[in-house]
Amino acid sequence: MAAFPSRITVLSGGIGGARFLVGLLAHLASANPDGQSGSATTVTVIGNTGDDIWVHGVRVCPDLDTVMYTLGGGISAERGWGREDEHFTVKDELAAYGVEPTWFGLGDRDLATHLIRTQSLQSGFTLSEVTAALCDRWQPGVQLLPMSDDRAETHVVVQDPEQGRVAIHFQEWWIRHRAQLPAESFVMIGIDDARPAPGVVEAILEADLVILPPSNPVVSVGAILQVPGIADALRTTAAPVVGVSPIIGTAPVRGMADACLDAIGVETSAMGVALHYGARSAGGYLDAWLIADSDAASAPAISAAGIRVDDAPLLMSDPQATAALAAATMALAGFSA
Ligand code: GDP
Ligand code: CA
Repeated sequence: MAAFPSRITVLSGGIGGARFLVGLLAHLASANPDGQSGSATTVTVIGNTGDDIWVHGVRVCPDLDTVMYTLGGGISAERGWGREDEHFTVKDELAAYGVEPTWFGLGDRDLATHLIRTQSLQSGFTLSEVTAALCDRWQPGVQLLPMSDDRAETHVVVQDPEQGRVAIHFQEWWIRHRAQLPAESFVMIGIDDARPAPGVVEAILEADLVILPPSNPVVSVGAILQVPGIADALRTTAAPVVGVSPIIGTAPVRGMADACLDAIGVETSAMGVALHYGARSAGGYLDAWLIADSDAASAPAISAAGIRVDDAPLLMSDPQATAALAAATMALAGFSA
């Protein structure tokens, strides 16, 4: 087993990534050689910004905020997004004016974050700078970097009964249509001109370990990988790259990732996602892949593709279970702690 990693980089979406990070930090705090929480290991999180949206004049970054609130202790435990003890007075008032969109869950407490972000962006700060400033309050215990400071938003190509073939914003598809409108494809508008945010490529190249947590493989991790330069960094880093399956059996543990996988023709299974990411030895992204113990039967097919595989309980039901999952992930990557 290799020495304890001093730099871990995680490519994260919202809920799945954030919950995994809670367990990773708990595991690191208990396992660090000097016993100090986080002192021996720096965790850098590259957050998906493909879900970002302008709504009622404010810039919302749902995945960055989910990571920041979850690790900072401000997340709604019940919803898994937005703030605890939230009210939706502003949202209701906007709806009373008949202003669209009415389907986006803009909470009153949450709105303060978006107002600060919007003001700062409009005074010329980058999203990286704004995110760092917001994290000064929340102290998430990780370095949270947006995948890019440039605007590149995921859109979903659908057949609209009235308008024919149209591309709608991911949030409209996900929240308003609950991913029920069949998706033909996903396109990230603006991605060709997007650059990785400062520190992103370095965080992958200089890491001792890179983790793909159980985030949505298409619109979370998949979106991050589309930023020019990030996929190459992942293919060429000297660090092992290990992933955790967001799928147990034939369904996502939570949410509607199956609708995204269907759209890109990938089977909703731990094996389907592993083969979609592919082995680094064959030009893909993974050295190793952690699957649910109940999916152990698919291990031989995954190893045959050149991906080291192990199984473990994958349900992030509480911080202890999630810390054990993080420990199993690190062990699969060859780290003893
Ligand atoms: P989002 O941006 O809020 O949708 O969150 P992510 O992309 O980070 O994560 C969504 C994925 O997390 C979904 O595909 C879920 O299947 C997965 N997920 C949620 N809870 C769990 C869990 O307890 N265990 C595992 N293995 N995956 C989970
Ligand atoms: Ca998301």
